[in-house]
Amino acid sequence: MDDLDWDIETLAIRAGQQRTLEGEHSDPIFMTSSYVFGSAAEAEARFKGEQAGNIYSRFTNPTVRTFEQRLAALEGAESCVATASGMSAILSTCLALLQSGDHIVSSQSIFGSTVVLFNKYLSRYGIETSYASQTDLASWEKAIQSNTKLLFLETPSNPLIEVADIKALADLAHKHNCLLVVDNCFCTPVLQRPLEFGADVVIHSATKYIDGQGRAMGGAVVGDNKIVGEEVFGFLRTAGPSMSAFNAWLFLTGLETLSIRMQHHSAKALELATFLQDHAKVSRVHYPGLPQHAQHLLAREQQAAFGGVLSFEVEGGKEAAWKIIDNTKLLSITANLGDAKSTITHPATTTHGRLSDEEKVNAGIKEGLIRIAVGLENTNDLQADIERGLNQL
Ligand SMILES: *Cc1c(COP(=O)(O)O)cnc(C)c1O
Repeated sequence: MDDLDWDIETLAIRAGQQRTLEGEHSDPIFMTSSYVFGSAAEAEARFKGEQAGNIYSRFTNPTVRTFEQRLAALEGAESCVATASGMSAILSTCLALLQSGDHIVSSQSIFGSTVVLFNKYLSRYGIETSYASQTDLASWEKAIQSNTKLLFLETPSNPLIEVADIKALADLAHKHNCLLVVDNCFCTPVLQRPLEFGADVVIHSATKYIDGQGRAMGGAVVGDNKIVGEEVFGFLRTAGPSMSAFNAWLFLTGLETLSIRMQHHSAKALELATFLQDHAKVSRVHYPGLPQHAQHLLAREQQAAFGGVLSFEVEGGKEAAWKIIDNTKLLSITANLGDAKSTITHPATTTHGRLSDEEKVNAGIKEGLIRIAVGLENTNDLQADIERGLNQL
């Protein structure tokens, strides 16, 4: 791409578009399953890979390609493969790069479905996973075995917003001939570009901030031409968890506003975290933008801002947490995040409800913990909505 010296704000709006002969200003949606060849010889050349061009939309589609090129430009990567969901991005990465007998070391603080994918499904095919502490480098080193091929993490983590040191973990991975895969869903490339810190592959759930308005499912795998452009793409075009052209078009419009949205989500989350920190009924706030946060300095080095998700604890366990949640009128009680609408969740009984009591204690998921994914509403309105329940404790 020749526009790589543009700033990320410009890339998010301009990268990847190739206008058709119609001269359309906005990105078009190519709703077509297959593509027509000029002759039988051209069809043969395309299928043999001797001639570049579209064959079938499970492989490539112009709208999806524009999305892939734009996201690759934002992450500073050579290649991007768009997928049907964030989970299919993780599945495609694992199945493309690993084989039976391989081993994964993952942060223990990752998305719940990813844990199920690793423990229940990949293990059936002889791929085992061990878990390390998000913030303890020594525990990662200890978990690495001679057959470890891949280190996997998500930063900041959910719901305790702990920040992992991407550079240190990339160095550790490479020392042991492993790849570092980072799920960058919470930050997006606007706030954090893991490849710059040495990560090999970046995963996205486009369903979250890239869409930005909670409308469509999608995902992406980002990295170099060999790992992503050949290996992951090869799996995707065969197995078929491809992104639909319509969803790619929604995500393209999402990307156009990603930069300003992430700045606003972050500014509002910092305001709300500060308000909660000062509130007498709140015992603890988890947000890396607060100077008290254990990885505040690391987050400042690694991220352009601190993101839109925070969590906080109140005394009184589940009953107190539910009282706050049930007294909100503005915030939506839902586990999704990355939406213009703020959401509120009780992790201990929803996203982390499958954990045993002991696992919850180990993971730091207290019964009085509440997670908020801060949307784009007015901060005073959000504060008032949370304070109604807090004042009843
Ligand atoms: C939501 C999410 C996923 C899964 O993405 P889907 O689009 O729901 O499949 C993966 N990782 C993180 C961090 C998420 O928040």
